[in-house]
Parts: sequence; C-alpha cells; structure tokens
Amino acid sequence: PLIEMRDIYKSFPGHRRGSPIQALRGVSLSLQRGETLAIIGESGCGKTTLGHIMARMSAPDRGQILFDGIDVTRPRRRQRNALRRKIQMVLQDSGAAFNPFWRVGSALRAPLKIIRHANPTQRAQEVLEAVGLPLSVMHQFPQELSGGQRQRLNIARALTIAPELLIADEPTSALDVSVQARIIQLLADLNTQHHLSMVVITHNLATVPYLTRTVAIMYLGRIVEWGASDDVLYAPRHPYTRLLIDSLPGRRGRRAAPPMGEVPSPVHPPPGCAFHPRCVRAQSICREIMPELSGASLSPRREACHFPLDG
Ligand code: SF4
Repeated sequence: PLIEMRDIYKSFPGHRRGSPIQALRGVSLSLQRGETLAIIGESGCGKTTLGHIMARMSAPDRGQILFDGIDVTRPRRRQRNALRRKIQMVLQDSGAAFNPFWRVGSALRAPLKIIRHANPTQRAQEVLEAVGLPLSVMHQFPQELSGGQRQRLNIARALTIAPELLIADEPTSALDVSVQARIIQLLADLNTQHHLSMVVITHNLATVPYLTRTVAIMYLGRIVEWGASDDVLYAPRHPYTRLLIDSLPGRRGRRAAPPMGEVPSPVHPPPGCAFHPRCVRAQSICREIMPELSGASLSPRREACHFPLDG
C-alpha cells in the first residue's frame, strides 16, 4: 500500500475540562498506489480528523502510520518535510486557502521556490492547464475568481509539487450543483490520467460512484463498512450504510427518508455497537459487544455488524 493506517486513536480535550472527545477509536485502512478511496459519514464521525492525520497535519494518540512501507507515525523534521511534498490536502474552504494579497501566479510559485524548482512559472502554467484554468488567472487575485474557479485553483495549488497522495476534504460542498459536477469530473480525470492516489472525504454519498473505487463508511470514530463503491452503495451490509442511502433525496422518485435519531455524542459513545440506539436490527449483544470489521484486513468487503444485511 501507498499508505497504511493501523489502529489509529485520536481524542481532543472536552469542553471546560470535561471528558475528552473521542474522534477516532481504532481506525485501520490502507490505500494502494493509484487507487481512490472515499471516506463517508455524518458530521462529527471523525472523517476530517482522519484526513488531517493522514496528511500529517496532526499526530495520532495511538496507532501506526506507514507511507510506502516506512513508519512515519512520529516523523523527524526531515521526514516530515519530505512527507509534505508527497501528501497534499485540498481544504474545504477554497476562499480561505489563499492569501488575498497574492496574485495567483505568486501563490502557485511560492511552494515551488521553497523546493528550488528549476522553472516555477512553467510548472505553475502546467498545473493551471491540468485543472482547466486559463493562464490569464496568473495575474488575478483569488477573490476575483468564481467559487468553482477557486476550487480548481485550490486543486492546482496542491498539484504544483507533484504529490503522490491527494486528500480532498469535502471538495464540492461549498459549490453550486452544476459546478460540483465539473470538480468531480476534474478529480476523476486526475486519477485516471495522472494515476494520482486520492482520498476524498465527503458526506455526499451521491458523488462517490463517480469519484472513487473504494469506500469506507465511518460512524462515531470507527469504520463500519468497507468495500468497492458499487458493492457498498448498491448492496449495503451495514444498517448504517443502508440508513445513509435511504436518506438520499430523489432515489427512484421517492422522497428522502429522514435519518432516524441523532448521532450520539463522541464524548460518551454508546457501549457495544455505537449505532445500536438508531438501529432497527439491534439485539442485546449489540448493546454489549462492539463488532469488529469482518474478514481479513485485505478483504475486499468488510462490515462491523453482528447481524449484517444480506446485501
Ligand atoms: Fe445494528 Fe447490531 Fe449491527 Fe450494530 S451490530 S449495526 S446494532 S445489528
């Protein structure tokens, strides 16, 4: 695998010195080179925290991270700098990703100058072409661009230093629907044409089949289902995945079913299966024993449920 995360835990201090927020509770996953993975879940499920740890913007409390087979859980300064070149993150808020006083050309050349690239201007032009922006934007300020153009620019900035892994956190959530489709197409093209390994963090299940081959469904800091996107989305085995799909608007002309119940607090996740207060299939064992992901770690299809659906 290009990146492998083993049994990752992460918590944050609670409000007013209360109990800690348990953002990640034993997450393991791996991504092969050139592959694409979507991490899906409701707000507060830990998917952005997982993305930040993957991008090495934050360290796990426990667990191990391997990049290209090398342990990078606690990288030294040199190793950390090298990783920053190999892993780039596209943040959700494209407006906040740029210095408003820098023209686009300067913003794109800045990281290239740090790594002493031989021709920063040429490289900046290459990435603008790759994301479908005209070269004239080099002379504009980011705030003069539309939301869709700024998100393309955000992706171009991440591509300048030719990363091996691109992590996109909700890359379309702030955009109009028509612009969303073009950004999704751009990300899909980057994977197929440039073989860029990609992780897309999203709550938008509907975009996943267009974007990634594999999907991980997260609930309260754990992965509850894992598999090929088509398999998981068209024949879910975990009741939570089923709930997410049923709450998609407009499937077969139906109105969306409202998601049942609230997501419990990550400060005190329910014992056993954390989904049991919302699950129609819950039985007494679900309230006592936390189900582990089924199958071996490299199995193509896995789910963490005592009574999985038959798919
Ligand atoms: Fe529902 Fe039990 Fe499966 Fe959890 S383990 S999802 S409560 S059936």
